Amino acid sequence: THYTPAADRYDTMTFNRCGNSGLLLPAVSLGFWHNFGDHTPIETMKNLMFTAFDHGITHFDLANNYGPEPGSAERHAGMILRQHFAAHRDELIISTKAGYEMWQGPYGDWGSRKYLLASLDQSLQRLGLPYVDIFYHHRMDPHTPLEETMGALAQAVHSGKALYVGLSNYDGDTLRQATAILDELHVPFVINQNRYNMMDRAVESNGLKQTAHELGKGLITFSPLAQGLLTDRYLHGIPADSRISTDGRFLHKQQLTDELLHTIRELNSIAQQRGQSLAQMALAWLLHDGMVTSVLIGASKPEQILDNIAALSNTTFTQEELTRIDALTAQ
Ligand code: NDP
Repeated sequence: THYTPAADRYDTMTFNRCGNSGLLLPAVSLGFWHNFGDHTPIETMKNLMFTAFDHGITHFDLANNYGPEPGSAERHAGMILRQHFAAHRDELIISTKAGYEMWQGPYGDWGSRKYLLASLDQSLQRLGLPYVDIFYHHRMDPHTPLEETMGALAQAVHSGKALYVGLSNYDGDTLRQATAILDELHVPFVINQNRYNMMDRAVESNGLKQTAHELGKGLITFSPLAQGLLTDRYLHGIPADSRISTDGRFLHKQQLTDELLHTIRELNSIAQQRGQSLAQMALAWLLHDGMVTSVLIGASKPEQILDNIAALSNTTFTQEELTRIDALTAQ
């Protein structure tokens, strides 16, 4: 099948500036953590990528270890990019990361220069690309000097293998220290990637959100739907095709307590009153104060992408709605 992107793909998407940089990102981006591994049909992956791009989602987010097996999401993305997006490479922002365990032994994990630069080369091989747009350090490493990790990111850019760099799962203090080093090294560090949703506000308490804003850095938020909990997915039981049923790696049915279900139902009724799906309200909530550049969703079906993009048509909240949401979710 030959894919021709929709001619009107840029008509409705909102693009937000990534901090003070020159880079614009779609307000909704697509992540490849799930549904791009060895258990998903290639047709499904293609349909997700086509639907996303057809609606202005120009950013695809990967990591070295996405799968299963680790590396397979990059391999599958690379294959589809080559087959169907070759003429559109310059319309896409492709990111990858290193920082979690990727291969055996002491050089396949954390934040050494040895690991990061080898991993980036492996990622480019799997993706079949000469460079990625954004290369991230995936998590803070308490044992490697920040200078070493940032130096590796600098080399990634200066060798032409990454256009920009990002930091993922950092806190406010470490972000500030890292920024000082990256500035000295003249590295285009533009974006933070952290978990953030109505039920997980760690970026508010650890200073990341405020510090990123003050430093003029972007913020892209992962698991904005709490892996599907902040949607209508689990309102009436656990569907056979849901993440809890199909992929128990990171979301378990034990997490779906009666208390949590009660919260989800209450949130769902606020969403209904706003004329939105719960997923839409959860994404709109993240975007409402203008401090989040992009919400990084996952999807198992193209329709979910469409549902989620429609969040952009109402991202304002009344004070009363915000107070009610806080009362239900703020820790
Ligand atoms: P979400 O919180 O958006 O969860 C996505 C899942 O929710 C989907 O796979 C689907 O699950 C369900 N869903 C999505 N939209 C809807 C909808 N409209 N209605 C009903 N259900 C819906 O994000 P993820 O947790 O998947 O994370 C997104 C991305 O963030 C990852 O792919 C990755 O790129 C990045 N990430 C980064 C991390 C990091 O450390 N930097 C860590 C984790 C993620 P179902 O299977 O039930 O249909």
